[in-house]
Amino acid sequence: MFGGSFDPVHKGHLEVARRACMQFGLDQVIFTPAATPPHKVGKALAPGSARLAMLELATSEDPRWEVSDAEIRRAGTSFTIDTLRALAGVEGGDQAPMLHMILGSDNLPGLPAWREVEEVLSIAQPIVAWREGTPEEHLAALDGRLPGHLVERLSEGFMRLPPFPGSATELRRKVAAGQVTAEELPEGILEVIEREGLYGAASPGAKA
Ligand code: ATP
Repeated sequence: MFGGSFDPVHKGHLEVARRACMQFGLDQVIFTPAATPPHKVGKALAPGSARLAMLELATSEDPRWEVSDAEIRRAGTSFTIDTLRALAGVEGGDQAPMLHMILGSDNLPGLPAWREVEEVLSIAQPIVAWREGTPEEHLAALDGRLPGHLVERLSEGFMRLPPFPGSATELRRKVAAGQVTAEELPEGILEVIEREGLYGAASPGAKA
């Protein structure tokens, strides 16, 4: 399960999924855009339908990658625990596959405040994509804020490959300023952004 705003999906997300598949031998990655992430309540996101459409396009390169509309359909604030419980229920039974949850290291400082965080980290083995700082700094900062066995579980899930750039905030800023090139985004995504007029993009017609 790979959650986030995906506003828009970018090359960093795809590289994280590639690396997670390689290092952890995942059979499937389920990209799950949030309706409203708890830390982004009150901030406007592109419509769920547009974020889903961009993800469908970007994930078509790998047959193991899927897009789930579960959080968009549920609407309201999207809590990871609800999504994981639903997945664990669907996949339940004796032969249930092991669930993983992919997240960037920028989520770690806020992780202790996640709803039912201990349950989240028990249901799903975390896979942490290192984004900035060092894994040791991130893990040390969680000491005393999460039980030791869960910090250990996060440590086991740390991807040891160096950070890969990519930020939706930066891309939205560049789109609004008319400074983004198609190559900076996964194939076909800039066309969708321009067609839908997302992030203050000028329509392709206006440029001609
Ligand atoms: P924004 O800039 O709008 O906050 P974002 O680029 O962080 O967005 P999200 O959709 O919030 O993208 O990311 C979904 C998940 O992917 C989060 O767990 C985030 O930490 C992780 N992630 C995004 N980009 C990267 C990256 N370049 N390297 C590692 N993890 C990343």
